[in-house]
Amino acid sequence: MIEREQIEMDVVFVGAGPANLAAALHLKNEIVKHDEMIDKGLKFGNKVGEIEIAIVEKGSFVGAHILSGAVMDPIAIRELMPDFLDQGCPVDTVVTEDAFWYLTDTKGINAPLVPPPLKNKGKYIVSLSKVCEWLGEKCEEAGINIFPEFPAAEVLYDENDAVIGVRTGDKGIDKDGKHKANFEAGVDLLAKVTVLGEGSRGSLAKQITARLGLDHGKESQVFSLGIKELWELPAGNFPEGKVVHTLGFPSDTRTYGGGWIYGLKDNVVSIGYVTGLDYEDPMIDPHAEFQKFKTNPKVAAVLAGGKMIKYGAKTINAGGYYTMPKLYADGVLIVGDSGSFLNGQRIKGIHTAMKSGMLAAETIIGAFEHQDFSSKTLRHFEEKVNLSWIYDELHPVRNFHGAFQKGRWSALINTGLQFLTRGLAWGFLPKEHHVAGHERMQTVGDRQLAVGSRGPSDHLKDVRYAGVPFDKELTFDKATDVFYAGVAHDEDQPSHLHVLDTEICATRCAEEYGNPCQRFCPAAVYEMEESATTGRRELKVNFSNCVHCKTCDIADPYQIINWVTPEGGGGPNYKGM
Ligand code: SF4
Repeated sequence: MIEREQIEMDVVFVGAGPANLAAALHLKNEIVKHDEMIDKGLKFGNKVGEIEIAIVEKGSFVGAHILSGAVMDPIAIRELMPDFLDQGCPVDTVVTEDAFWYLTDTKGINAPLVPPPLKNKGKYIVSLSKVCEWLGEKCEEAGINIFPEFPAAEVLYDENDAVIGVRTGDKGIDKDGKHKANFEAGVDLLAKVTVLGEGSRGSLAKQITARLGLDHGKESQVFSLGIKELWELPAGNFPEGKVVHTLGFPSDTRTYGGGWIYGLKDNVVSIGYVTGLDYEDPMIDPHAEFQKFKTNPKVAAVLAGGKMIKYGAKTINAGGYYTMPKLYADGVLIVGDSGSFLNGQRIKGIHTAMKSGMLAAETIIGAFEHQDFSSKTLRHFEEKVNLSWIYDELHPVRNFHGAFQKGRWSALINTGLQFLTRGLAWGFLPKEHHVAGHERMQTVGDRQLAVGSRGPSDHLKDVRYAGVPFDKELTFDKATDVFYAGVAHDEDQPSHLHVLDTEICATRCAEEYGNPCQRFCPAAVYEMEESATTGRRELKVNFSNCVHCKTCDIADPYQIINWVTPEGGGGPNYKGM
């Protein structure tokens, strides 16, 4: 039995992303205002007083694991801090020009009109990692405790299943599970309210959703995987402030996908591609889709003569309003991507994540005022969300992603109808229209029947990516890209990728799906290798490559991969991404 230190806090935020950083700062600021108003007789109620707030973060610094495109709608940060620019918020540049390209394998057509949801003129191109680093500094200046390298590994409950805090991960365990000389037991951080803002497919949000049934009555969550590179270009290739979104090549019409190119300062571009993780073809490789995207002549011309300088990959919650879990339970709130606050139609979630955090903060003030941290008080969070501009923004686009599960063309018709009717048009959609990605993936046999191919499965993958040279100039293999993600994990620790039944990998999965983990992981973590002992191909997990995107936890068709937090500080380094 390990002896663990217990630290009593009042509020613990799990994850130092935009939602929780905005939440913690807003909480601190609003408590001061609330108490001052009561002192001055301008408000009735109870004062909250000084409370201890902690943010735990698994990355080695705030921003280390933060990755986004990213064009930020400033609506939320302006509410949080009206003078955010004067206070030094590190925006890169202002969007000056929008474009929308429809791509085929040989052409790029500049659409005469940019769809209204993709108009970004006047908004800010940012490195979200830098913005979070800066917000972290603001939180520390306000007296909030931030603990980087402290992954929250487990939710703590009382005897009535109320959340009472989190347990951080142990440090100093070797790959065989034995304690090393530097072993340190994780601590129990006890809190009256715990806020889960771990981003997409949060590992604690997953635990608590299953235990407390927070997804009962909700549609299945669907995810997309965004893969991004930063490139330095010769002067004149692509203007600073220009934002391009693309549709078409290389996605087939049954697969959700689209690209972006954002012009940053100093001839740097953010270029990336999003693939819906609800694809049907088990041979799809989202990393290779992105590489293929760059071979379109119009895209390749932007990158000509340039140099790739950074790489990253991250999933996003794409389901929107209908797939939001219940956002509260006794002692806990769920914010940001963990709560499905992203607007899939605008491909934007920073502003909604921040606003969700701020509304959580206002709910927490009410909880302290009444000294009631149960669902009775915390349920006001959902009411606040539904009365805020988040609802006004997300509810009209509630069918957006579901429509794409019927194919691109019906989705575009539905999107147009939804835009004109503020979401009232249901188009051709059945009521339960978000199907989890792992349920949509076809077996190799079904896929071959669907496309009429008679070739072996690997042949199909080769055909799909035949035009991609992987020449390390324009297109890169996974191993090369991973180097540019700055990933580091101590190799002498247990793997944080728990494959619950590797026998399935060597047998059923090999036969039925051709081991899709080798393709959907954008960091070459999973390999099927011939075993000298059994003579068959067995799973090898190169966990130290992992960029923490969570795709495997989401996309595995048997749902037998469980991503858990590795030792604190391990993972990618997205500084400046
Ligand atoms: Fe993403 Fe899983 Fe691969 Fe890690 S192992 S990079 S979480 S798909």
